[in-house]
Amino acid sequence: MADRIARLPEHVANQIAAGEVIQRPAAVVKELVENAVDAGATRIEVRVKDAGRTLIHIIDNGFGMSEADAQLCFERHATSKVRSADDLFQIATKGFRGEALASIAAIAHVELKTRREEDEMGVRIGVEGTQQAPPEPCTAAVGTQFAVRNLFFNVPARRNFLKSDAVEMRHIVDEFQRVALAHEAIHFVLVNNDTEVFNLKPGSRRQRVVGVFGAKYDERLVPIEESTDVVAVEGFVGKPEFARRTRGEQFLFVNNRFIKHSALHRAIVDAFEGLLSPSAHPLYVLFLTIDPHRVDVNIHPTKVEVKFEEDRSIQALLRPAVRRGLGRFQVAPTLDFDQESSLNIAELQPGAEIVPPQVRINPDYNPFKPVESAPSRSAAIASWTERRPTRGQVDAWEEQYRVPATPVPESKPIVEDRDEARALFFFRGRFIVTSIRSALLLIDARRAHQRVLYESLVEQLESVAAQVAPTQTLLFPELVTLPPADAMQLLEAAGWLRKLGLHIEPAEGGVQVTGMPVEGEASPRDLIDAVLQEAAGEADGISREERVAAAWAKRLSHRPGKALGREEMGDLLDRLFACSTPSRDPFGRPVIVTFEGAEILERFA
Ligand code: ADP
Ligand code: MG
Repeated sequence: MADRIARLPEHVANQIAAGEVIQRPAAVVKELVENAVDAGATRIEVRVKDAGRTLIHIIDNGFGMSEADAQLCFERHATSKVRSADDLFQIATKGFRGEALASIAAIAHVELKTRREEDEMGVRIGVEGTQQAPPEPCTAAVGTQFAVRNLFFNVPARRNFLKSDAVEMRHIVDEFQRVALAHEAIHFVLVNNDTEVFNLKPGSRRQRVVGVFGAKYDERLVPIEESTDVVAVEGFVGKPEFARRTRGEQFLFVNNRFIKHSALHRAIVDAFEGLLSPSAHPLYVLFLTIDPHRVDVNIHPTKVEVKFEEDRSIQALLRPAVRRGLGRFQVAPTLDFDQESSLNIAELQPGAEIVPPQVRINPDYNPFKPVESAPSRSAAIASWTERRPTRGQVDAWEEQYRVPATPVPESKPIVEDRDEARALFFFRGRFIVTSIRSALLLIDARRAHQRVLYESLVEQLESVAAQVAPTQTLLFPELVTLPPADAMQLLEAAGWLRKLGLHIEPAEGGVQVTGMPVEGEASPRDLIDAVLQEAAGEADGISREERVAAAWAKRLSHRPGKALGREEMGDLLDRLFACSTPSRDPFGRPVIVTFEGAEILERFA
């Protein structure tokens, strides 16, 4: 029998390795930017087209490569950073496996231009799959540029596996932020399809954090600084009142390398105990410095997970360090983020303490703002009546609630009122009490409103023609300041947000809101926060768009305790009964409680 074992051809081996190191465009950005950092660059520019599918171009002003190095750098296990296995334990640089460039060159068209300070001319090398062109002299600034085109051109499975541009760009921004946060002395620029997303000038660590997240964050940061023999920690945590409902502003670095470590994450979050509701995620950007001998970074090809010898002592430092930082800044220990939603759900228990209502101040209130930009409730109601359900629809609904024809001792209906003369009564600032046939109904007004808003938003989403979605054009467009990454994410959603009535445009420092949904009292900031919270991904098979519709319905609905007039109650009920699922709010909670006539009579027996 013939021999069976053959060495894999180099290019096949490289493609296999590439699969491990380069899963998506963001991985290319990470590897090339880290190489530029290792090359001592003080300015690194990242330019991408179509979320990196078409082009990833990284330009640095580092020490460049000689012609011989430029030729070698694409070979597997070619690295200038590790000379012996011993070196592996003292890694100060980012890369050390010497496989990033080989991997990238195996699955894309790569062009390298580089020049060292001492060389007069630069070198240019093109690599396409297995073919590496001979170096040619070229003019080039000192430093290195890699242009990576047509990523995964020869790996269709990978290419097809890529998510939408928005998702891939989000990954690129994540990687970019991680490196940028760790190297505040380096000038970083990120350009996406010719639009500048970040331009981060060298500065202090605080300035870098603010540059990445946005100017508003300056006042939100609490500095942390603490050290023991084993480990030093410094950086920032966010004041608890600015915690968000999504993770994402949480960065932990070990020796300036971004890592994920669930036990350390817990230690940090635990320090916020009593300051945060469990659903809120505090911001942190913390830098741990540990003797490299005590860290094992060679654990995963993408090197995000790390092992420590001193896990416990690091945890033991982190929690008190963060706690003390928060204490020094006298962060009040009584914040409750769920206040609003708990108002929604909480039934008053017998003997429960009654809490006085809180005064809410609207900082955006502007008495000079023309009325047109914020339609009055009654104007909104007037517009509802146009799409009021027909009599038939309401009858059909009543049919469902009809009391089965059990003989009722008293043959007369309990309440005679029907239709226009229907008895309506507002109870405890929350419930509409009414009757249909011989049943008595209690309807949670706010939940009913949420159901109504939700269904009309979803209907708008499903309509094909975005331009007909109703919107209130703001006479004075409102600037909502946002971290650049959030602004980008939002603008990518601009198309379907328009269908929901929110019109946004790019603006310096955030986005400009030019149109708002016609109905409701939320501020532009409220709606935008909701969109960002319902970030990418699917939950329970519900699309992001629908989750945003539900979140908006909640924010646009009547404030808790808002008194409703008779006409408003009537209109709300008409709209509710025209819904496809009137009995539940968008979050599945009951909207209507029915007391059947027979049941009521029984209690009087
Ligand atoms: P590693 O970073 O693990 O050494 P890479 O494949 O990423 O492996 O890079 C191989 C080598 O190419 C590096 O060790 C370095 O010598 C050289 N190199 C890569 N990028 C740059 C750059 N931007 N500037 C200078 N040298 C670089
Ligand atoms: Mg590298």
